[in-house]
Amino acid sequence: MDINKTMMQYFEWYIKPEERLWNKVVKEASYLSSVGIDAIWLPPAYKAAGGKNDTGYAVYDLYDLGEFDQKGSIETKYGTKAEYINAIKTLKGNGLTVYADIVLNHKIGADACEDVMAVEFAFENRTQKMAEPKNISAETVFNFDARNNMYSDFKWRWIHFHGVDMDRHTNKRAVYKFYGKEWDNKVDKEKGNYDYLMGADVDFNNVDVVEELERWGKWYVDVTHVNGFRLDAVKHIRSTFFNEWLAKVSEDFNEDLYAVGEYWSTNITSLLDYIKQTERKITLFDVPLHYNFFNASNCGDAYDMRTLLSNTLFKAMPEQAVTFVDNHDTQPGQSLYSWVSDWFKPLAYAIIMLMEDSNPCIFYGDFYGIPHDDILPKNKMIEKLLLARRYFAYGLETLYFDHRNVVGWVREGNYEHPDSGLAVIMTNADIEGTKTMDMGIKFAGCVMHDIMENVDEEILVDEKGVAVFKCKPKSVSVWIKKDNQYQ
Ligand code: CA
Repeated sequence: MDINKTMMQYFEWYIKPEERLWNKVVKEASYLSSVGIDAIWLPPAYKAAGGKNDTGYAVYDLYDLGEFDQKGSIETKYGTKAEYINAIKTLKGNGLTVYADIVLNHKIGADACEDVMAVEFAFENRTQKMAEPKNISAETVFNFDARNNMYSDFKWRWIHFHGVDMDRHTNKRAVYKFYGKEWDNKVDKEKGNYDYLMGADVDFNNVDVVEELERWGKWYVDVTHVNGFRLDAVKHIRSTFFNEWLAKVSEDFNEDLYAVGEYWSTNITSLLDYIKQTERKITLFDVPLHYNFFNASNCGDAYDMRTLLSNTLFKAMPEQAVTFVDNHDTQPGQSLYSWVSDWFKPLAYAIIMLMEDSNPCIFYGDFYGIPHDDILPKNKMIEKLLLARRYFAYGLETLYFDHRNVVGWVREGNYEHPDSGLAVIMTNADIEGTKTMDMGIKFAGCVMHDIMENVDEEILVDEKGVAVFKCKPKSVSVWIKKDNQYQ
């Protein structure tokens, strides 16, 4: 398991095919490594229903990594298979770890329909039957003719799925479960049973499906040499599946494959249950922390900053949490829209980058900006925090979450990292924040400055190692020793 790596999610929703993302990351690899990024999460690399314009989550053919003329092009939105493999090789050559985005819950973009008996269920309650079984036309035939059985001759049919959300006889949209099938039971309890998310929902109880996905996983790692996975939509897949899959896929390789799951829920109990069921083999994105940031950023000084870490996975089980500020689903215009406001981004990033035991994931859309929505790059701000994380965020941590508008913490530094240690102070108020914090006796008499360059003045630590730290209104300052060997 990779502990305390600094990950970057290397895409946002509106990246254009012309940007050739696989080639872009090759050009950026050495720079990303030099600023302190350790791991890169690349977007889904296989052909999706929307071809070149598809982000990749509407997965069509798992074996087509931009190699076959399917869905209107050979390449995917991000480039060709050769470019993908070259990107991974280059990233690894620059000392970066690479995670692939794995979307197994559903398939979309079927080659044909087939008639199947199905039962309609209520959209908001998937245990509530709405009608008697009837014949529907389901989009469940996947032949991949252009691939012509290369790598796998598996053909998907309705028997490999639980259900669909469209009857092509009537074009009625509803949740249709195939007659005789049962939803997976070890899934999120939202909507009664949240097995069904979209498209043709893959049946993870079907032995042939499980075998095919294991075969595919081994093929994928063998071809790409990725170090691990970001697992999509895990709350919609029986919780026991991915552990078995990871064990099986790892069999052929000498390293444990890392996995972080997207369990989109603010319910900390659900997250902890999943971690328990998967025996801590899968880390999870800290969705509750993201929503705390979102709420704080919307509430201004009415938000009680002492509660910023409340009910989060980071607080409950930091080693199992991947902390993040925003992602491709929370950005403006997307399905889980909950974009953390601009003014709060430096505060949120300071939390995930500089607190002890945090495993942060930096969003491409924050780092490079999102031209589609006129969102400017924040790479300069994030680079300062990367620097602080790399050289200064070490040693004993003391939290000062003791005021509703001004909070902070101290890292005392350690001997392995000379000159390390820092004090962070942030406020959501419209007035300057101050806080008395104890840096430890090692810092007695030191002159400190703000690595974020928000506060110009210097601060002198007293003979006991204590100082009154400052930050500007609605801002964060990160105080480090002015005379240090890194800057
Ligand atoms: Ca499912």
